[in-house]
Amino acid sequence: MIPFDFEYYAPESVEEAAGLYAELAEKGKEPLYYSGGTEIVTFARAQTVKTGALVDIKGIPETTVLELDDEKLVLGANLTLTMLAEQDHFPLLAAVAGKVADRTVRNRLTLGGNICGRLPYREAILPLLAADAGVVLAGKDGSRSEPLGKLFDKRLKLEKGEMLVQLTVSLDELDQKGWNKRRVKHGPVDYPLLHLAGLQKNGRLALAVSGLCAFPFRSDELEKTLNDSGLSADERVEKSLDLLPGPVRSDEYGSDDYRRTLWQKDLVEMLGEMEGAGR
Ligand SMILES: Cc1cc2nc3c(=O)[nH]c(=O)nc-3n(C[C@H](O)[C@H](O)[C@H](O)COP(=O)(O)OP(=O)(O)OC[C@H]3O[C@@H](n4cnc5c(N)ncnc54)[C@H](O)[C@@H]3O)c2cc1C
Repeated sequence: MIPFDFEYYAPESVEEAAGLYAELAEKGKEPLYYSGGTEIVTFARAQTVKTGALVDIKGIPETTVLELDDEKLVLGANLTLTMLAEQDHFPLLAAVAGKVADRTVRNRLTLGGNICGRLPYREAILPLLAADAGVVLAGKDGSRSEPLGKLFDKRLKLEKGEMLVQLTVSLDELDQKGWNKRRVKHGPVDYPLLHLAGLQKNGRLALAVSGLCAFPFRSDELEKTLNDSGLSADERVEKSLDLLPGPVRSDEYGSDDYRRTLWQKDLVEMLGEMEGAGR
């Protein structure tokens, strides 16, 4: 049971949702955008989240599109992970989304909720970081489009009251060779010990990572080393350990040492497969 009262709104347009959010915030209701609701409901029950109003954004048409135009793939923030796993425009995204939780859960989890949520994994973002995706955001002052990489630093840096409306991936990214590997302790529904998702673009590896640190990441410095053809694969992997953007996680699923070992092993495998395929 959720031990507090809240108001519920179901706007039908981006403008209405952003306006409602601003109005409710002004009244001190501490509103939350609500998509799949799995995280909000879980945290509300545990009382680690409290809100006076939910603004359910699933009825906004722009947030449920999945379409290719002449330049890009457009992904609405309220597409579920099942829908992402079943689309065939962007194979790496389908592969990654299809490995999160189980199908019943994926039927509820949304792309936007996964990216904007509090948990450290946020795996659906990995292919989008690797593909240099764009984001479309909306707030009370209107909409803006930005590169995802510019706004994502440990988390998506939204302005107060902004919502994620869409992600866009340019067509030339969609067919690049992809590779991903997800490590878990027990079985597929576990949170990841490590998840690597890479794209090979013009002979260079673009790599996004979840599970290793307290946040998902893609790092220019790390990629520079991984793409240094003057070093052997083993040397690059060894060097990579000093270039991680934060401490390696240690928790009940695996120690930091264990995660480092998996990182080294999977990187060697990835470099071998990606380089064997086209460098
Ligand atoms: C059993 C289970 C197993 C899971 N396993 C994994 C896993 O292994 N790996 C993994 O990555 N995830 C996993 N998840 C999902 C993850 O933990 C997130 O909680 C989930 O993706 C949230 O999605 P949602 O649509 O339910 O979000 P919601 O609960 O609706 O929202 C989550 C947060 O995001 C905000 N938000 C939602 N949409 C938007 C938007 N469009 N714009 C701005 N803010 C927004 C909300 O205000 C809220 O703060 C699992 C979830 C469950 C229930």
